[in-house]
Amino acid sequence: MNRPYNFSAGPAAIPEEVLQQAAAEMLDWRGSGMGVMEMSHRGKEFIAIYEQAESDLRELLAVPPEFKILFMQGGGLAQNAIVPLNLSRAATVDFVVTGGWSQKSRKEALKYAAEVRTAASGEDSQFTTLPDPAGWQLSRGASYVHICSNETIHGVEFHELPDLKALGSDAPLVIDFSSHVASRPVDWSRVGLAFGGAQKNIGPAGLTIVIVRDELLGHALPACPSAFDYRVVADHQSMYNTPPTWGIYMAGLTFQWLKRQTEGQGAGTVTGIAAMEQRNIAKARLLYDFIDQSAFYVNKVVPHCRSRMNIPFFLADESRNDAFLAGAKARGLLQLKGHKSVGGMRASIYNAMPLAGVQALVAYMQDFERTAA
Ligand code: PMP
Repeated sequence: MNRPYNFSAGPAAIPEEVLQQAAAEMLDWRGSGMGVMEMSHRGKEFIAIYEQAESDLRELLAVPPEFKILFMQGGGLAQNAIVPLNLSRAATVDFVVTGGWSQKSRKEALKYAAEVRTAASGEDSQFTTLPDPAGWQLSRGASYVHICSNETIHGVEFHELPDLKALGSDAPLVIDFSSHVASRPVDWSRVGLAFGGAQKNIGPAGLTIVIVRDELLGHALPACPSAFDYRVVADHQSMYNTPPTWGIYMAGLTFQWLKRQTEGQGAGTVTGIAAMEQRNIAKARLLYDFIDQSAFYVNKVVPHCRSRMNIPFFLADESRNDAFLAGAKARGLLQLKGHKSVGGMRASIYNAMPLAGVQALVAYMQDFERTAA
């Protein structure tokens, strides 16, 4: 039986192969007599799961040795506090506000950083475009610069990370990559720290991934809880407290799935994240091209800032929203309702969404437009 296509922004669809493997191993992980949820995090079975997941993620994202990979809890919103607690050094921090998530991050940092400045904002455009880095007002001596590299609600994405050095800043760049982690390669030379919840592209909610440059460890404010001090977490291989073991296991299965993905043939064959990036570009193009040629649907984001993961769109006649969603559900196209703060629709097409799912959505949108005419 084919499962419906699930367009949820997160918690989001997980590759079916991953779910099946987890189901098969649920009662007895590889002859251990235990399910993964029942294992001590310090036992050799779980340590093997953790080490494999960590090394697969490092390989997939080409994370350089001078970065630590931390498996934490608390999601993206907890990182909004944990990052300034660790990195602000009681000084100024800069924010580039490009949508709902960076807005939230900025607000939370006000509690912990001595000064929070907005270096640039896309608010005047209702977050339909990204402010050009050349015009950012970066503070001298800032402890870090925060961006959300993919805004899940507003559907804007930095297709290239800003080069802060070229903009005259020595501050480390912090990226919230919650909603596009593992969808494309990362230029680590431009990054100080990246964080993201797992529940979109990596696995179940409950696991948060932090990838941080060694030199940024060890500067936490005195009030920082030990379990959230990156230095403490890193020194204990993410096991200072009990880590989200099930989330790490599921993420590990997803990393193995990602490693098996290939695209193209012969000399042009790519694997892993590069394969996913090609697929994600093709999926997003299909949907945006369809929306752009239609007068019935609209996406308001300027083309070069459009997210490849989260595609918000509106019906020209919003009185048909409920009918659109009901018809979609009847065709096995789930969770297309837009975020409450912007309304309309949103199709989240993370790694686990196959091209066939986007084709099915476009076919439905065509049919709905025709019958509504
Ligand atoms: N940042 C981004 C870009 C997000 O999309 C989300 C969740 N949708 C968050 C942060 C918040 O993450 P969490 O709910 O895991 O705290």
